[in-house]
Amino acid sequence: MSRIAFIGLGNMGAPMAVNLIKAGHQLTVFDLSTVALARLSDAGGTVANSAVASVLDAEIVISMLPASSHVESLYLGDQEILSSIAPGTLIIDCSTIAPQSARKVATAAAARGLAMIDAPVSGGTVGAAAGSLTFIVGGPTEVVERARPILNAMGKNIFHAGDSGTGQTAKICNNMLLGILMTGTAEALALGVANGLDPKVLSDIMSKSSGRNWALDVYNPFPGVMDNVPAARAYAGGFGVDLMLKDLGLAAESALASRAAIPLGELSRNLYSLHSQAGSGSLDFSSILNLLAPKKVN
Ligand code: NAD
Repeated sequence: MSRIAFIGLGNMGAPMAVNLIKAGHQLTVFDLSTVALARLSDAGGTVANSAVASVLDAEIVISMLPASSHVESLYLGDQEILSSIAPGTLIIDCSTIAPQSARKVATAAAARGLAMIDAPVSGGTVGAAAGSLTFIVGGPTEVVERARPILNAMGKNIFHAGDSGTGQTAKICNNMLLGILMTGTAEALALGVANGLDPKVLSDIMSKSSGRNWALDVYNPFPGVMDNVPAARAYAGGFGVDLMLKDLGLAAESALASRAAIPLGELSRNLYSLHSQAGSGSLDFSSILNLLAPKKVN
């Protein structure tokens, strides 16, 4: 069993950390939110009073933060934990961030004798709680193999995409498709309901027809169709609109850098941008239904 520092205990990080505790690891945790820290203390974690304090005795450091700026600040900037981590320690960043940020931090870590992988996840808060996440990993093969037993305590599928940063590139492609699928699913359901259909009946039909997809089947955006999804609780928790907007922005940056065309990804980004500007940034991303439905449904 390992001594693990876990930093970032939000919608995803908290259930991931709890699964590591359940697997018998010793966790020292840190977050800027005292509410998040109290929850992990109740679950058996040891609370540190700073990011630096959390890593001093760690064999493994895991971070799960919102965006590139937070990750760079933690490892290299204001919080600067790299110089407090013992050489030989394994670092796993599970946040979804820009590939170039992942490479920048991994290069700085390697210069200090620290092995680091980018390991963003797919599977949402339900997958995080169930320990069934998919990890999409970038980094040297031997470091990925070293991380595998730890990742197995939080997920079911571990894919090695390639060198440092490639986990992020693959994750960004996946989330661009997810943004497009959620927007399209919400649009189709809103159209059906505006024309007199029951959203559950329409969902049942489409999930056995060619429109079938994950957003429809597992994360239905229409309230009343499924239990245990954000649409069933006024879009609280889950995967925030602003986090989806960040990921679609990362896709746009990647497209600019490679001269790739992403017309549907850009359209989805603009729709999420309008939705965020209308005040929905902290709601779950399936609330895009409210932008597309003729009348607010929640
Ligand atoms: P969240 O906003 O719920 O949690 C982020 C946590 O990080 C918060 O508790 C916040 O207080 C903490 N934090 C921020 N800056 C910090 C710092 N400098 N030091 C310590 N703690 C800090 O976000 P989330 O939904 O858990 O997502 C985390 C990452 O996972 C994001 O990159 C997101 O894109 C990705 N992701 C989320 C989901 C999902 O369904 N929510 C799914 C896959 C991937």
